Amino acid sequence: MVSRVIPVDEFDLVIFGGTGDLARRKILPALFRRFCAGQMEPGARIIGAARSEMDDDGYRNFVREALREFGTGRSCEEGTLDGFCETLSYVTVDARGTQGWKELAAKMKIGVVRAFYFSVGPSLFGDLAERLHQYGMADADSRIVVEKPFGRDLATARALNHTLALHFDEGQIYRIDHYLGKETVQNLMAVRFGNMLFEPLWNAQYVDHIQITVAETVGVGGRGEYYDRSGAMRDMIQNHLMQLLCLIAMEPPAKFDPDAVRDEKLKVIRALDPVPPEDIVRGQYLAEPDDPEKPGYLEHVDNPRSKTESFIAMRLAISNWRWKGTPFYLRTGKRLRGRTSEIAVVFKDTPHSIFGPEAGRHRNILTIRLQPNEGMELGVTIKEPGPGGMRLIDVPLDMSFAEALGPDAEEVPDAYERLIMDVVRGNQTLFMRGDEVEAAWAWTDPLIDGWEARGDAPEPYESGSSGPEDALMLMHRDGRRWREIRA
Ligand code: NAD
Repeated sequence: MVSRVIPVDEFDLVIFGGTGDLARRKILPALFRRFCAGQMEPGARIIGAARSEMDDDGYRNFVREALREFGTGRSCEEGTLDGFCETLSYVTVDARGTQGWKELAAKMKIGVVRAFYFSVGPSLFGDLAERLHQYGMADADSRIVVEKPFGRDLATARALNHTLALHFDEGQIYRIDHYLGKETVQNLMAVRFGNMLFEPLWNAQYVDHIQITVAETVGVGGRGEYYDRSGAMRDMIQNHLMQLLCLIAMEPPAKFDPDAVRDEKLKVIRALDPVPPEDIVRGQYLAEPDDPEKPGYLEHVDNPRSKTESFIAMRLAISNWRWKGTPFYLRTGKRLRGRTSEIAVVFKDTPHSIFGPEAGRHRNILTIRLQPNEGMELGVTIKEPGPGGMRLIDVPLDMSFAEALGPDAEEVPDAYERLIMDVVRGNQTLFMRGDEVEAAWAWTDPLIDGWEARGDAPEPYESGSSGPEDALMLMHRDGRRWREIRA
């Protein structure tokens, strides 16, 4: 039932920022799980590289601690952790200086895949790329992985692309968006392009609208300063929700290969209409009453005059033959009622109800759940069982991965596991290309410039709610409703 585990080639993976939060919480646990799954060849090596002074044993202890704290999430044989730790070593490196670079270069093996994960702030990307080149580590078989945020507008994204391009070809640059590594997101492509059932209906003639929701219950946490300079539009819409939108809306690529898929995604972004101000609702969460642990957004970011949004809902239109007339509603926010990420494809009513008005209105909805409980659900209309005439009800055809795969479900790799292994394999399909990122900013920038120029203030919303009232109105005025965000 579970995917076959095909060992990847021998590799050297250098994690710049190997002592940082992302490395501890995501990258190292993901690597450990792939090691447990038997995917790493014996010669594979992981090299932590960061500013802290540490030796190899110190780093191994650091990683053991991180794995204890952030869980392995997989059953592993006794002793596997020791085996994993043997793959680890550490070099103290200064991204902006000379310290550590010769040592790092001397460590690299010849003739194996070299991957450099830039798990540091974007202001260091250029320094790292330049030094990798200068110290002779950037050979044709090396690749770099860069984290979000990839710029904060078109100009900065372009500058970043330009800097990286001085030292690496586009085919060596892996811009990570972990949403693309989720099992369900890839399943979305399998469902669309591996079945005859859906694709003929996947257009404005049969689809009433599409909703994409990414709701979080947490506030901005310890990232207040960063978040207040970004907001939900930059932090979530421009990248994660845009990527989901592209996969839902794109034309079938001729092949499942990186450029064919990314070409189609790019066409979607380019076909997006500008969004008028009345189709955008921005919000800021209020304090949870009587809970000093949950202050309002303004206190959280310690900026009483902030106009940054912690919630955004918008109505988008795609001007092409497939989608003209089908709106896409996107919303994402913090401190909402539940933690839900889903895409709902809401099909149109049947052209005529043979059951009369008393049968009510029923629609097929295909829901792709990213969390919780990754899976898909297709709502179909059936007769309510029993006597009493033809009453209709909607029931789900549910495909939860946990149920479908049983105990094997826990072995499905998480997003970071899959993406890091894709880097080693040299498969860029699930990574963003430079022109895609730029196109997304080119669409985003005027919207942000617009509300900044108008001085629009976000609408306050209650903590634990579904967002501001106006977000509900955005749908109501079109005669539609958001799907419920479940607690
Ligand atoms: P962090 O501040 O926890 O860690 C930064 C790391 O960079 C440390 O290991 C530090 O030693 C190293 N570093 C800093 N300056 C250096 C220098 N001059 N030379 C060498 N090493 C240096 O940051 P983080 O939260 O791990 O985030 C890293 C990157 O990942 C950032 O770009 C962030 O936006 C992105 N990101 C983080 C998360 C997350 O959950 N933490 C999620 C998505 C994206």
